[in-house]
Amino acid sequence: MNDTTEPVRLEEQIEKAAKAIRNAQYCTAFTGAGISVESGIPPFRGENGIWNTYNPIVLDLGYFYQNPKESWKAIREIFYEFFGAASPNAAHVLLAELEKHGMLKMLITQNIDNLHYEAGSRAVVEYHGNSRTLVCPRCGARRDAAADIFEELPPRCSCGGVWKPDFVFFGESIPFDALQRAEEAAERTDCMLLIGTTGEVYPAALIPREAARNGATIIEINPSPSLYTHEITDIFIQTRAVEACDALLNVLF
Ligand code: ZN
Repeated sequence: MNDTTEPVRLEEQIEKAAKAIRNAQYCTAFTGAGISVESGIPPFRGENGIWNTYNPIVLDLGYFYQNPKESWKAIREIFYEFFGAASPNAAHVLLAELEKHGMLKMLITQNIDNLHYEAGSRAVVEYHGNSRTLVCPRCGARRDAAADIFEELPPRCSCGGVWKPDFVFFGESIPFDALQRAEEAAERTDCMLLIGTTGEVYPAALIPREAARNGATIIEINPSPSLYTHEITDIFIQTRAVEACDALLNVLF
């Protein structure tokens, strides 16, 4: 554990983290809203969060089914007009590069913004689903979310059902496949890189704790200490995701 009462030099922490990543047999990453902030996507919670502008009830499953048009108006703005304009940053790129070089075996993300996928990551557990796919709860059909489908709201499947984004709404459970793959990764990993996640959203928040319990080295990148920092973090890189990952990219490749 770091003694965070003493200032720790950033370069030193970057070197330590790079060494842990290089030495790992099964390195994993766990990301949250903080990794996408510098891509222009605000977090949901906190000051300047999305929920300061929109009422989170639009993502409540029961409300969505009863008020599909109103919910879809907000969903279109937040997830397809706003998120759609964002692009991956150096932190997303680092994780994609690590995977390409065989140095990252699995990436677990809580984000639904699709930026890991756009950066080139493929070994990804989308714990809360994603916004690029739509599902029809009536007939089970799936399709890509394309702009033309949002012209008339709510968008409807040919069976008459209302399309729902394939991410987890409030009141909906985590997809079984994602739970299982994340659990497997947490059991197997010997080094987990936490980026932009503060450990407040459950059950996702348990994954790094499970990894730590199994002996994994925990590297944390966050601008301020989180719930994880004093509890499980071994190497704390206290800075913005882009700055830390730029530095790691330089040291590792
Ligand atoms: Zn349908």
